[in-house]
Amino acid sequence: MKIAFTMDDLPLWPQSYPPPGYTADGIVRSIRSALKEHSISGVYSFSNSWPLLKHPEFSKILDDWVSDGHHIANHTHSHIELPDVTAEAFIADIDAAETHLAPWVSKAQLKLFRHPLCHWGETPEKLEKVNSHLRSRSLTPVDVTSWAYEWTWNRAYRNALDSRDKAALEFVKTSFLDFSAAQLRHDMAAAEVWFGKETIGITLGHNVPFFADIASDYFARLKEEGVVFVPLAEALSGPGQAVVGSVVSGEFLVLQQKLAAAAGLPTKKLPEDQLAVHAKIVEMAIGQSG
Ligand SMILES: [Zn+2]
Repeated sequence: MKIAFTMDDLPLWPQSYPPPGYTADGIVRSIRSALKEHSISGVYSFSNSWPLLKHPEFSKILDDWVSDGHHIANHTHSHIELPDVTAEAFIADIDAAETHLAPWVSKAQLKLFRHPLCHWGETPEKLEKVNSHLRSRSLTPVDVTSWAYEWTWNRAYRNALDSRDKAALEFVKTSFLDFSAAQLRHDMAAAEVWFGKETIGITLGHNVPFFADIASDYFARLKEEGVVFVPLAEALSGPGQAVVGSVVSGEFLVLQQKLAAAAGLPTKKLPEDQLAVHAKIVEMAIGQSG
């Protein structure tokens, strides 16, 4: 399995500030060190610029990311979600990010954009207005073919940390490694069915405390599963890229799921054998908002 790993939301996870014991910088440092340890290079982070205006010191997080040989791309200024706003407001937010992220995006090999929550536009008009703006700014929209729901595990992890529950912490960690491997196989198989051939996957991580703590084990586990990490440019040369932004979608779905749903052939989001563990983690995550 060939995978291009990407990150979203540097420098700050949009849902909340880091809990006691963690900092935005420390979380990203842990992820950078896991990437280095596993020789995963040139990783694109799809970034929001609002935190830089509020916390100018966060620019160092992006500086350090780029110094490691990774890249920054546009993920809107304020993590605005397309179904919540007009196309015009969304476009203005793309442009604001382009301005504020200029010191870093100008150094990237590719000019890329990711829609927050991968919402391409829930009406044909919004879809086309945004697509046409991205074309005019030479921004290539990049989607995701597999995510691991680590934000849900993060909430369960934080509850386990808060209650100092060692057994719960252990369960959260081990279940994630099994789940994320199964989820990747599930999504890769679905993409292969949809595109009619094996494709290079695009996966996603977020700068949340749990991912910072599990990243090294996660990458190791994926390698054990036969994953080979490749540059994002390689994934973008495949058939999936040609259809990014091609269908109306306001749902939180990965690429092949959006295409299948638009064709009236909805697919299963989660692997059957992981439904119970996912439900258990959702239960453990209750009450934790970020
Ligand atoms: Zn995001």
